[in-house]
Amino acid sequence: MIFPLLSGMILRAGYLSSICNDGPSTNITPAEILKKYNVDIDEKFTDNQKWAILHAVYRVGSRLAEKRNKNESAADAFKNVYSAVHFQLGCGDDCRSKDKNGKPYGNEGGAFSSGWQANNGNGYFLIKIGTMVDDGGMRGTIHMVHELGHAYDYAMGDISRKGSMPDNVFTRDSLRPNGYWYNGIFTADKTVLGWQMHPPKDGEDDSRGETFADIFVAWTFNAWNTNPDNANAVTAAQGWMP
Ligand SMILES: [Zn+2]
Repeated sequence: MIFPLLSGMILRAGYLSSICNDGPSTNITPAEILKKYNVDIDEKFTDNQKWAILHAVYRVGSRLAEKRNKNESAADAFKNVYSAVHFQLGCGDDCRSKDKNGKPYGNEGGAFSSGWQANNGNGYFLIKIGTMVDDGGMRGTIHMVHELGHAYDYAMGDISRKGSMPDNVFTRDSLRPNGYWYNGIFTADKTVLGWQMHPPKDGEDDSRGETFADIFVAWTFNAWNTNPDNANAVTAAQGWMP
C-alpha cells in the first residue's frame, strides 16, 4: 500500500513543478498589474509599498464594480471612475507642517492627494506620498485607500465640500474608532490609526475632506462602527456614497 501512495506523491510533486516551470511568469510586478488599472507608480517605492498600493487599488476597484453594478471588472470600474492615477514617492512642502504664516517646517509626513492633473487632453490624479503608514502592509493599504478617497471626492466634483453630503452622513460616528484588536482585546490607543487615517485637528480647514476620505475607507472595506449607539450614523453613511 505504501508504493502507490508514494508514487502518487512523486507524480503530484512532478506535476506541481511542471506548473511552476511552464506556467505564467512568476516575477510579475505590482507595476505590471497596476497598468491594467491605468495606475502608474514611481519605481523608487519599495516592494512592500508597491504591493500596498496594488492592494488598495484592487480593493477600491472591486468595491466600485460592486456599487456600479455594470458587470465591470475591478480594473474597468477603477478606470471608468478615475481615468488614471499616478502615485509619486516624495511630496515636498505639501506633506510638511506649516507655521501661522504658511511657511513649511519639519520633515515630510503622510501623503497628499493633488487632484486632477491635466496633461494634453488626458490627465490623471496625482497622489504624492511623503511617508506611507507602516511602509505598507494592511495599514499602508488603508492609508492608500484613504488617499484614493480624496481623489474620488475630486472625481465626483468635490462632493465633501460642495454640500451634497448630508449632515447625518457627515459625521465620524459611523467610523470604526481608532485602536486595534490583539488576541481578542481591543486597545483604544489613540496613537494608532487603524480605520481612521486622519481624525480632524483643531482649526483644520480641510476636515470635511478628511472625514470623507475616512468614510471612503469604511465604505471600501465595509468596516463600520460596531457600537449599536452609532447604528443610525452607520446606516446613513452606508447608503450614501455617490
Ligand atoms: Zn487625508
